[in-house]
Amino acid sequence: MAHNTDEQYHLFRQSHRELNQDLWRLIERRESRLCWRWLGDHDEEGYARYKFEHDGEVYSLQVHRYLYYALYDKLPPVVEHSCDNPWCCNMNHLVIAPAPAITC
Ligand SMILES: [Zn+2]
Repeated sequence: MAHNTDEQYHLFRQSHRELNQDLWRLIERRESRLCWRWLGDHDEEGYARYKFEHDGEVYSLQVHRYLYYALYDKLPPVVEHSCDNPWCCNMNHLVIAPAPAITC
């Protein structure tokens, strides 16, 4: 079973430095205005995924979410793409989704 909580992002950054390099190698970097393709696995919704093992458990990171965390050191509830490509790994295309409006 793959765990899918925010904890895994902290865990990955703190305990798997060597895999951080591996993750970065799976990003096809291009000009900053273009979308950066992910060369690894994708989930059924098209999001880039990176799996790693820790203490016998398998975790599956949403790559764009991890990139946001690595860049800004925080994990907002929803990180979206301004380009609408769920697989995109260009950090310039990551945006925090606005909080849902509260209606009475
Ligand atoms: Zn993009």
